[in-house]
Amino acid sequence: MIILLIILIFAGAIYLDRRRKKRIMEQGTPEQKAKLLAAEKRSQDLKQTLTENKEKKAISKQEKFNDKFKCPKCGSHEIQPLGVHKKGFSLGKAVVGGALTNGIGTIAGFAGKKTKKTDFVCMNCGKQFKM
Ligand SMILES: [Zn+2]
Repeated sequence: MIILLIILIFAGAIYLDRRRKKRIMEQGTPEQKAKLLAAEKRSQDLKQTLTENKEKKAISKQEKFNDKFKCPKCGSHEIQPLGVHKKGFSLGKAVVGGALTNGIGTIAGFAGKKTKKTDFVCMNCGKQFKM
C-alpha cells in the first residue's frame, strides 16, 4: 500500500509540474519562460551526459571483452570452446549476447570454473588455445 501511495505522489508531482510549466509557457513572463527553458535544457544535458557515460562504459566493456575472447594467432572472434563445440554452442553468439546484456558473466557462467582454463579453437584459422 505504501508503494501505491508513493507512486500516486510521484504521478501527482509530475502532473503538477507539467501543469505549472504549461502555465508558464502560456502566461508567464519572458523571464519565467527563459528560466524554465534553461532548467529543462540543464536536465536534458544531464540526461544526455548520463546516457553518453553509460554508452562509453558499455563500449569499453565490450572492447575489453572482445579483446579477451579472440584468437591469439589471427585475432578472429570466431572462436568456439572445445568440447561443447559439437553441441552447436556458438561463442560468437555468447559474445554478442554477453555484450548486450552486460556481461562477462555470461562467459564466466558458461565456463563454470574460473580457475580452470578452457580450450578454445579458432574457427577462422583452426588454432587451438587456452584461456
Ligand atoms: Zn585464428
